[in-house]
Amino acid sequence: MAEPQDQLDSMFPLLSDAQLARLHAFGEPRQVQAGEILFELGDTSHGIFVVLSGSLEIIAVSSNAPGSEESVLRVASRGSFTGEINLLSGRRSLVRCRAREASSLLEIGRANLQRILQTDPTLGEIFLRAFLLRRVYLVAHSVGDALLIGSSHSADTLRLRAFLSRNGHPHTYVDVERDPDVQAILDQFDVRVTDIPVLICRGQLVLRNPSNAEAAECFGLNAGIDEGEVYDLIVVGAGPSGLAAAVYGASEGLNVLVIESNAPGGQAGSSSRIENYLGFPTGISGQDLAGRAFVQAEKFGAQIAVARTARALKCVKSPYTLELDDGAKVQARSIIVASGAQYRKLPLPNLAQFEGVGIYYGATQVEAQLCDDEEVVVVGGGNSAGQAAMFLSTYAKHVHLLVRGPGLSQTMSRYLISRIEACPEITLRPRTEIEALEGNGDLERIRWRSAEAAASETHPIRHLFLMTGACPNTTWLQGCLALDGKQFVKTGVELGEDWPLDGRAPYLLETSVPGVFAVGDVRAGSVKRVASAVGEGSMAVQFVHQVLAE
Ligand SMILES: Cc1cc2nc3c(=O)[nH]c(=O)nc-3n(C[C@H](O)[C@H](O)[C@H](O)COP(=O)(O)OP(=O)(O)OC[C@H]3O[C@@H](n4cnc5c(N)ncnc54)[C@H](O)[C@@H]3O)c2cc1C
Repeated sequence: MAEPQDQLDSMFPLLSDAQLARLHAFGEPRQVQAGEILFELGDTSHGIFVVLSGSLEIIAVSSNAPGSEESVLRVASRGSFTGEINLLSGRRSLVRCRAREASSLLEIGRANLQRILQTDPTLGEIFLRAFLLRRVYLVAHSVGDALLIGSSHSADTLRLRAFLSRNGHPHTYVDVERDPDVQAILDQFDVRVTDIPVLICRGQLVLRNPSNAEAAECFGLNAGIDEGEVYDLIVVGAGPSGLAAAVYGASEGLNVLVIESNAPGGQAGSSSRIENYLGFPTGISGQDLAGRAFVQAEKFGAQIAVARTARALKCVKSPYTLELDDGAKVQARSIIVASGAQYRKLPLPNLAQFEGVGIYYGATQVEAQLCDDEEVVVVGGGNSAGQAAMFLSTYAKHVHLLVRGPGLSQTMSRYLISRIEACPEITLRPRTEIEALEGNGDLERIRWRSAEAAASETHPIRHLFLMTGACPNTTWLQGCLALDGKQFVKTGVELGEDWPLDGRAPYLLETSVPGVFAVGDVRAGSVKRVASAVGEGSMAVQFVHQVLAE
């Protein structure tokens, strides 16, 4: 785990004497003896420890074996502090911390830490930057409490890998086909190859093909939802629009709960590089953007529950009740619908059979690694397809970009078209459509036909990325909100006769139910872009304040 010194130094900055003095008002002094454990892997109850004298060891504990193995990641001396992103959300610790010698410390609890982040910009920045860098380090070095044993031929393995990485949860992945040590690990935990994917949680619990919700539960990714509480605002969906609403709502003092059925980031989270979002001239991956927004929302105190799906909205009277897929019910005086959209599927009879084992709807590092040095097909003429083709061309032997229309000029940004034209690893195939998918278990062959060709062609290609437009996630809203002909949510002046109040007109992003707003891709007539989704999420909070004041 050798890292350049300056990287380690930025992860463990030293606070000055003046900064240490400022922190005294927020913490409790604590004296510890050599060898004393400050917190264990999996603990949630501690705060951060600031070292006033002496030193602490930050220790990685391997979860690959029941008899745990230690390695010291860092010795923290005077001016250093412990902690990473898990402290903001109350998630479990991924490391152990032990006093190296008799030490004098200051312990700052979670509530006071949040106060510092919100009121002291200098210290807030030092803490947040260190926490973020430490989480990046833990993910990159798979330090933590998760071991996933799976196969690249299993759709559930891909689902779990994507779920953990999109939630920024470090994990070690062992592939039964590629890793020679796998049998020894399986024997240690008494599992069979036929049980995979298997998720080993904190070196103890063995979950056989768990759902995302079970994985989230095991790793403590969610703080409990208080069913007795009436929130000021519930946001459904943690894509760019929902995260923006959460950041603005929480930073303006609202009591905010976000419900997300998968992981923060939404569609943007499946993008390898967003280059047209303001302020990121060299581009940013959707996952990075979502990770930062997630931390920002938690910094201001928003509560975010992942792997929980809104099943129905009861909107007869305020406070409105949201029913979740596990039967839980939560109430709020205002709701922001930010449930976005999902990819349209091709009308091929055996499509579902190959989803996750050859067919993918996102192109991130996780999927790209599966295509190393192989040919791949990307279907779609929009920016998301163009980005995927460019990104995959750095991993795959060759990328075939299939579009139904005559070219890309009507549907894709000029900068992407130029790059695709200049990339020898990409072949654009206009007026071409997929006719059939073949394979025994995994996808093995793709048959396509172009308008110019006399006959169809079959290619031994095992990876197909579908990026063919999206339909809105609104089935959970049926019977409650007015939708347009394509099932997008109607808002503002579009509502016409669907608006129920005589006393006032609907606000800009308000739906047919007063106090319920819709933002981003789920909204009828919205511009399907990250910037507009973020803008709408932020704006809606302004109207929420007005409704709450009525
Ligand atoms: C691969 C790709 C690349 C892209 N590249 C760009 C780009 O470069 N620039 C750009 O401007 N735009 C880009 N876009 C478009 C952009 O990502 C979307 O416009 C944006 O993500 C919309 O944000 P949103 O929050 O409205 O919805 P979404 O991103 O769709 O997020 C909705 C969220 O709601 C959750 N959800 C859905 N239903 C429920 C439910 N019932 N309960 C709980 N949660 C639910 C979903 O899991 C999801 O996380 C790209 C899109 C894709 C797919």
